[in-house]
Amino acid sequence: MAVVCPECDNPLHLDADEIEEGDTLQCDECGIDLEIVGTDPVEVAPVDNSGYDDEDQPVVADEDED
Ligand SMILES: [Zn+2]
Repeated sequence: MAVVCPECDNPLHLDADEIEEGDTLQCDECGIDLEIVGTDPVEVAPVDNSGYDDEDQPVVADEDED
């Protein structure tokens, strides 16, 4: 499973059989909280910490429609 932490690029070792969308985990390298946002392929995204400033920039996927 080739997933890397979006924050520090640390390789995350996930077992596809053990995770499901909505699960959260913590990067053991930088400590960021990550949420499983997809399992096929596996995708992770930083969890928004409640009470955080609104300046937090959301991760936006490239929109390349044709
Ligand atoms: Zn990390």
